[in-house]
Amino acid sequence: MNLNGLKQVKSLLPEHCQLIVVSKTRPLNQIMDLYNAGERNFAENRVQNLIERKENLPEDIRWHLIGHLQTNKVKYVVPFVHLIHSLDSIKLAEEIEKQSIKNGRVVNCLIQVHVAAEETKFGLGVDEIDQFIEEFLLKKLTHIQLCGVMGMATNTRNTEHIRNDFRKIYQTFLHLKNNYFKHNDLFSSISMGMSSDYKIAIEEGSTMVRIGSLLFE
Ligand SMILES: *Cc1c(COP(=O)(O)O)cnc(C)c1O
Repeated sequence: MNLNGLKQVKSLLPEHCQLIVVSKTRPLNQIMDLYNAGERNFAENRVQNLIERKENLPEDIRWHLIGHLQTNKVKYVVPFVHLIHSLDSIKLAEEIEKQSIKNGRVVNCLIQVHVAAEETKFGLGVDEIDQFIEEFLLKKLTHIQLCGVMGMATNTRNTEHIRNDFRKIYQTFLHLKNNYFKHNDLFSSISMGMSSDYKIAIEEGSTMVRIGSLLFE
């Protein structure tokens, strides 16, 4: 595998923005190439893949879950996951809390925000965020650390549309930060940007880009 994609991404990444390598279905040896090049943050969108990869790859990898999480699978990821990017319901939060207590962990989560035009994508609409966060805070869940938001732009070639989607995600982050997390330094992450749109995401304030295909080509 050549590492040109990695070099390109790294050269464009501001200091405040972290690269999350999306390994998905890639073979272990290719993932190891990126590990050996210094990468330590890897993400999967399916729980089954996340578990398999964790078992077969070095211990010091920080594993991120970026896909939809069903409540019945929470117990498999909570023991080791570094960051869940896809928190989008109170029911899911309660199950993460329950499993985190069992494991004696505090689990980091991002609230998934839905701004894209596609209806199939998961996440909370901008108009649902306040109700979610108020209910979440009322429950006083002590084993979940909310760290920010995650979102995806519409899958389109219209860069202004993409930019506008990222702005909505950024604005949602700011709204939450200013209204609920002003004094919580841990609420600081904006996970947005993939291979096709990460440059725009960085311009619009991303602190975490989730990149797959570009790195494995
Ligand atoms: C697959 C995936 C990515 C990475 O997409 P690429 O186009 O391969 O960079 C990022 N985020 C999520 C949620 C994904 O499912």
